[in-house]
Order: sequence, then C-alpha cells, then structure tokens
Amino acid sequence: MNIALIAHDQKKNDLVQFVTAYQLIFAKHRLYATGTTGLRIQESTGLPITRFQSGPLGGDQEIGAMIAKNQMDVIFFFRDPLTAQPHEPDVSALLRLCDVYSIPLATNMGSAEMLIRGLDEGLLDWRNIARENGERDGE
Ligand code: PGA
Repeated sequence: MNIALIAHDQKKNDLVQFVTAYQLIFAKHRLYATGTTGLRIQESTGLPITRFQSGPLGGDQEIGAMIAKNQMDVIFFFRDPLTAQPHEPDVSALLRLCDVYSIPLATNMGSAEMLIRGLDEGLLDWRNIARENGERDGE
C-alpha cells in the first residue's frame, strides 16, 4: 500500500511515536510524507520515505495529486486543531479529496490505531484492486 504521513508541528512527536510503535507494519509498505514530517520519521525510525515539499510549500497538494490519480491508499494526517495554519486551504483540500475518493484517513491517534491495525489485518486490501483498476484505466 502507498501510505501518506503528515503531521502539523504540534503533532509531529505524536506521529513519530505512532510510526515507531508500528514500525514493523509500516516497513511492509511504501511511505510518503510532507518534508519535515518525513525527515523526523526517517531520523527516528530509519524507514525509507519519499518526501514531498513541506506542507505550507505545497506538500499537501502533492499528496492530494496522488490521491486524485488513485495512487494513495491510506492517509495518516495528524492535524493540530488548535493552531491556525497558513496553508489551511491546502489542508481542507486534502481532506476533501480523501472523501471524494473514499480514501481511508486518520486525523488523530485514536483513529490511527484502528486504521493501522485494520490495514495489517487486510481490511484495506480492496485498495489494491481500486489502485490497479485506476492504473489500468490510465488514471
Ligand atoms: P511538514 O508539513 O511535514 O513539512 O511540516 C506538514 C504540514 O504542516 O502540513
């Protein structure tokens, strides 16, 4: 599966902790992240991660583009609900695209636990079919 990892500054420690805890599962998948989030996770876990721009510089939109092309399967986006973000429109756009394409999305630790366990148990295997159909259709 292609997994996107994004965390706002106040939530980066939480996401690093989360990925570290489930490192053995994450290691079985292809990981993508916004710039600083990806760097922090790479430094802590050593997992290979394809890093995009930092969120405020377009990283959210790069991940959104992958969703629109049916190339992203799961999103872990630890948002900070208490701090205004300069790139709020990009954040909303990314969340919206997840809903447009029915992409599994966790925006906090509680739902992230369920998502990663479900992923490991094969509950998201339908995404393999959806992604392959998209690739075949040239999406
Ligand atoms: P960052 O971007 O990982 O580069 O900090 C995330 C964000 O703030 O949207």
